[in-house]
Amino acid sequence: MGSLKDDWKETGKDLGGAFKQLGKSIIKSGATVVDKANDWAERDDAKEAAKKEAEVKEAQEAKEAAKTICPDCGAEIVNAEAFCPKCGAKLG
Ligand SMILES: [Zn+2]
Repeated sequence: MGSLKDDWKETGKDLGGAFKQLGKSIIKSGATVVDKANDWAERDDAKEAAKKEAEVKEAQEAKEAAKTICPDCGAEIVNAEAFCPKCGAKLG
């Protein structure tokens, strides 16, 4: 019966070694995944920044397009007003 116990001990050792190796490879692949995730995050940040920039530009362009010039006094009407806030002329 002593030999069976020793066998189990050996099996346990082997298993322990296998788990150690497994742990190492998991940590290794985990580090790779983290690196990749960081890459993705950085890429997303760049994308977000570009998107924001484009949105700001678009908003500015929309603001420019929405700008109305009063035909009477030449005042710039930023908001879509029905009457010129400066001279009261009807707009549109
Ligand atoms: Zn006006």
